[in-house]
Amino acid sequence: MARFVFITGGVVSSLGKGLASAALGALLQARGYSVRLRKLDPYLNVDPGTMSPFEHGEVFVTDDGAETDLDLGHYERFTGVHARGTDSVSSGRIYSTVLEKERRGDYLGKTIQVIPHVTNEIKDFISIGEDEVDFMLCEIGGTVGDIEGLPFFEAIRQFSQDKPRGQCIFMHLTLLPYLAASGELKTKPTQHSVKELRSIGLQPDVLVCRSEQEIPEKERAKIALFCNVRPEAVIPAYDLKSIYEAPLAYHNVGLDQAVLDAFQIAPAPKPNLARWLDVKDRLDNAEGEVRVAIVGKYTQLEDAYKSIAEALTHGGMANRTKVRAEWIDAEIFDGSDAAPHLEGFHAILVPGGFGERGTEGKIKAAQFAREKKIPYLGICLGMQMAVIEAARNLAEIKDAGSEEFDHEAGQKRFEPVVYHLKEWIQGNHVAKRKVDDDKGGTMRLGAYTANLAPGSAVAKVYGAEVIEERHRHRYEVDVKYRDQLEACGLTFSGMSPDGRLPEIVEVKDHPWFIGVQFHPELKSKPFAPHPLFDGFVKAALEVSRLV
Ligand code: GLN
Repeated sequence: MARFVFITGGVVSSLGKGLASAALGALLQARGYSVRLRKLDPYLNVDPGTMSPFEHGEVFVTDDGAETDLDLGHYERFTGVHARGTDSVSSGRIYSTVLEKERRGDYLGKTIQVIPHVTNEIKDFISIGEDEVDFMLCEIGGTVGDIEGLPFFEAIRQFSQDKPRGQCIFMHLTLLPYLAASGELKTKPTQHSVKELRSIGLQPDVLVCRSEQEIPEKERAKIALFCNVRPEAVIPAYDLKSIYEAPLAYHNVGLDQAVLDAFQIAPAPKPNLARWLDVKDRLDNAEGEVRVAIVGKYTQLEDAYKSIAEALTHGGMANRTKVRAEWIDAEIFDGSDAAPHLEGFHAILVPGGFGERGTEGKIKAAQFAREKKIPYLGICLGMQMAVIEAARNLAEIKDAGSEEFDHEAGQKRFEPVVYHLKEWIQGNHVAKRKVDDDKGGTMRLGAYTANLAPGSAVAKVYGAEVIEERHRHRYEVDVKYRDQLEACGLTFSGMSPDGRLPEIVEVKDHPWFIGVQFHPELKSKPFAPHPLFDGFVKAALEVSRLV
């Protein structure tokens, strides 16, 4: 049965709780244990699928088609363990399950209350698959004291009582603010945060203290004393150049040792950190640099394209090159020439997105890349834009467009080269949807297989002919335009197994121009860069050597 580590945060949000959890997962793996990471989010949305990327950052899609929090992306990137739908839950999901059960009469007429009905539902969630791994790491979103978070804190308290002694520990992340005027690190907010935790019955076993300054031994001892934590379990967390240094950095300050000590695991198995040493070596010793333009819509918030930014870094690591990604709002050249904005870049990436705004700019970016022979990677909407561009400018379908834009505008203006798919094959059944379905969960979501055309650029990139990648979209390129587009040089080099859904297109006479209907960035890892990002950066490197 798994041991459980519950990870909570205090003082302020955005302390890097997800990263600390992911790094701890990686360190436990390095010591030979199997792990699974989970996220419990207090917000009331049922899942992040309908949340704006501006608000909440990227939606991370799992193989089994769940739309989850972006922290699950960190978990996967650090541990390589593929997340499942059952690794992410929100208050909204918990409450809707409880209310469904109530309507069905499952509670046999009882009064439904936060304790025990909501807390039981949370506890059931936490224990899913508990026999499969050595360690289950559960991160609670938000900070201690948030109103929405209370049932989660109560549930983990109960959970630890339900389990045999020593099977659950609590790790709490806080901030030590630095007061420049007095030259001091302040421990009081941490003391208050732990006090808040203790008032709801939770005593942390490990305290991770974020700090911009070195934490003096004296302050560490003080935190230990006032927070009732062992001094060696007060772990400093300093800012790092790269998030991928986190496993080594946390190991060096004793995080994994403190966790194993808290479980009284002795002697602790020796860690094998080779994977992370190699990652650090590649980061520290990059030789070249390439400039990649990312032409998108949600460019104000970096987290909106989190996995793409990370996958580009991984592609750089594979080539021992630094990737300088520059975010360009597609709208700025919607109505004007794209060239002045795109000249000087070694590669162009058009990411996924929703809605018509900015799409004319993205189409221009695809055209620029195709004509100037600049490496292009189109992801989801970025592939659809490349197809529309080719349809308009190569196949002379002047009004080519996507049904998505007509639906949004409520009028028919385009020939639907990209259309709204109503029915498709998923595994061995037919999935269907109506046009007016709810916005939540009506997309083609999760892992699907694609067959790659032998000899195509993409088959070479993957070194395989059958691949599986994650999807999140409503619209598809219409296969009926295939012959017409292929005759003009846009090859359909990846198709769904039934041959109905174009999954990958590429431009024939071009050094590197690939559009994919799926999201390869979701599966890239620092120690296993995704082949498309590896290939894309390699192609950008070639361009950089020519100029
Ligand atoms: N809006 C497009 C669709 O729904 C693309 C989605 C995406 O890029 N993830 O098909």
